[in-house]
Amino acid sequence: QRADSLDMSNKHGDSRWPRQNSLSMKEWDIPYDELKLFEVIGRGRFGTVYRGSWHGAVAVKLLHVHSLHSDCVPLDTFKHEVATFRKTRHENLVLFMGACMKPPRLAIVTSLCKGMTLYTHIHLRKDKFTANKSVLVAQQISQGMGYLHARGIIHKDLKTKNIFLENGKVVITDFGLFSVTKMCFGNNARGDSLGIPAGWLCYLAPELVRALRPHASLHLPFSKATDVYAFGTVWYELLCGEYPFKGQPPEAIIWQVGKGVKQSLANMQASRDIKDILMVCWAYRASERAEFPRLLTTLQKLPRKRLARSPSHPVHLSRSADS
Ligand code: ATP
Repeated sequence: QRADSLDMSNKHGDSRWPRQNSLSMKEWDIPYDELKLFEVIGRGRFGTVYRGSWHGAVAVKLLHVHSLHSDCVPLDTFKHEVATFRKTRHENLVLFMGACMKPPRLAIVTSLCKGMTLYTHIHLRKDKFTANKSVLVAQQISQGMGYLHARGIIHKDLKTKNIFLENGKVVITDFGLFSVTKMCFGNNARGDSLGIPAGWLCYLAPELVRALRPHASLHLPFSKATDVYAFGTVWYELLCGEYPFKGQPPEAIIWQVGKGVKQSLANMQASRDIKDILMVCWAYRASERAEFPRLLTTLQKLPRKRLARSPSHPVHLSRSADS
């Protein structure tokens, strides 16, 4: 609303407001000294997230900046991505509050998510999601992602670790800052020689996998369609409680995905329409993947169909045989 009102007042020549284009990034620049950092919530590959305080409870992601080496994304890119981030306002997206933009102290300040990530629910706690619950979660992810795409923002790192569940409400984090947060400070990235962290590969669409080169992930051809592919993997995790290609080495996954071989759904006891969503997200050709508004419509039709068949017993999906 704030950005819009700046636009509006600008159109009417209201001089009380600065022009949005020239709206200084200072408005989103949080002086590091104003932040209070408490305990570490978690450490990612490229940053440490703290519970903090800045006019109330916040999450502060302090980026690991060891050296601004030559192939590093310049500060301008960080600012550009922050400028994109600030334009987001949706109930299924984490609220961006500002950033510390003076190297070496680069940090992103967002609202503090309550609840746990889908990753924790699915892979650590082994919580089972009924089909109906999975559909409700997937609908909200589609809504948040549809909004991002409508604003021209590609997430680039959609995965269950970046999706919180707060009393049934989905909150997506970590969007639009991939270049700076994932690739710039990659010196200390854990992973193999291709720089592939565990659990990342199965979210990568064939065109990304085919473009993988050692130390060149910054130039991967991310698109709306690669986000949709990643969403397919999240949908699979919700339904099956595990990653696709579980237990297979990276080389095997790269070979299969690159050639268009998909995770088998033979052991998955789910209806055709549920599997069809996976197929339309995991389509080999990017142009054949559905867009989020269409996925949302498909998902919205699912529960009614299923409940109509069995009103008193919501359908539970069986786990695949080896889970
Ligand atoms: P990766 O480095 O691969 O992205 P990650 O997603 O675990 O892995 P971070 O995004 O740095 O890494 O997050 C680190 C931890 O902080 C995670 O446990 C994450 O759930 C938590 N976290 C991130 N953002 C928030 C937030 N806004 N509110 C609460 N916790 C958060």
